[in-house]
Amino acid sequence: MASQVETALRGPEAFQLARRALAEMETAGVWPTPLNFELWLHYVGDPEGPLGREITRLLGNKDAFTEGTAEMLAAEYLPRGRLSEEIRDAGAVLNRELSSVSDAIAKARESQAAYGETLAEAGANIEQAAAPADLKQLVSGLTDATSRVQRENATLERRLETSTKEVARLREHLEQVRRDAMTDALTNLANRKAFDEELLRACDQAEADNSVVTLAVLDIDHFKRFNDTWGHQTGDQVLRYVASVIGRISKNPRVAARYGGEEFAIIFPGEGALQVEAALNAIREEIGSRALRRRSTNDELGAVTISAGLAQRRPGESGTLLLDRADEALYASKRGGRNMVTNGERLPAAA
Ligand code: GH3
Ligand code: MG
Ligand code: MG
Repeated sequence: MASQVETALRGPEAFQLARRALAEMETAGVWPTPLNFELWLHYVGDPEGPLGREITRLLGNKDAFTEGTAEMLAAEYLPRGRLSEEIRDAGAVLNRELSSVSDAIAKARESQAAYGETLAEAGANIEQAAAPADLKQLVSGLTDATSRVQRENATLERRLETSTKEVARLREHLEQVRRDAMTDALTNLANRKAFDEELLRACDQAEADNSVVTLAVLDIDHFKRFNDTWGHQTGDQVLRYVASVIGRISKNPRVAARYGGEEFAIIFPGEGALQVEAALNAIREEIGSRALRRRSTNDELGAVTISAGLAQRRPGESGTLLLDRADEALYASKRGGRNMVTNGERLPAAA
């Protein structure tokens, strides 16, 4: 349901859907905040879905639709709410496993203590026990106590083993959830959130060990025209193609991301501006040299080109400022006629 709307937002009816959402918000007297807009897209895109029905119900109540209401609906029904739900579930499983293990440990402790008492008693008794029958009883008492303790230990071990497996499974699942939250679904590159974090980290690292780091931003040329001519679906295919070329040259420690709609960014730790300029020109040439075909109809689409800009971090410079300079360089490429790479270090300093 949510994904059905996501798909519609990239299909032929996307703008119609968006316009209807706005109109419905206006009719309902709801402010067109980004969050409300997102909720209303789901409401008009899938009115019979759980979120759609809940909004219908709330509107029927005639209560004011407040920001609090919107936040609640988002947490409950929007995809990003699902993430916190998964984390909550994981927390519950972890709790259960931990308490099961601590129960088992408490029980094992008790029986160890009881065993200690039995041994101490036997030690005291053995001094007085003269008759073989007494000794025999003593020994059989000890044997019983020993096997009881062994049984408890075996149970504890089994429980620990089960819990260890369960926790490992959970860890793997959470790792997958974390990866999904950091990945752009269309291209499989890092998403903007992951990239922003990575850029901060790379800048801190460069500052700490006095090393270089260079940032590149890339943007597909005249992509709007391309979409208008061939449709969004074919546009998405091109986005994936460009992303695959970028991804291929961005092996560790380089980090590539889809930064926005048709915009990409790459961090080059340990590489200076000249080296990165050469790498970007190689990407640019590879992308521009390939005649693309539309998968569904085999129509000849021609080539797409990209423009890029880069900036090498200066000592003390923040990720934000570095990104600004790389963007400046990208715009210089656009102004300069597109299908080109601008090395920001060669641009005259901004006033
Ligand atoms: P320029 O050379 O100046 O970059 O021109 P442009 O047309 O590429 O740039 P503009 O910013 O005007 O338009 C970007 C277009 O990218 C708008 C939109 O149609 C398209 N776009 C953004 N995100 C997506 C997406 O996820 N899928 C598809 N198919 N198109 C997208
Ligand atoms: Mg563009
Ligand atoms: Mg753009």
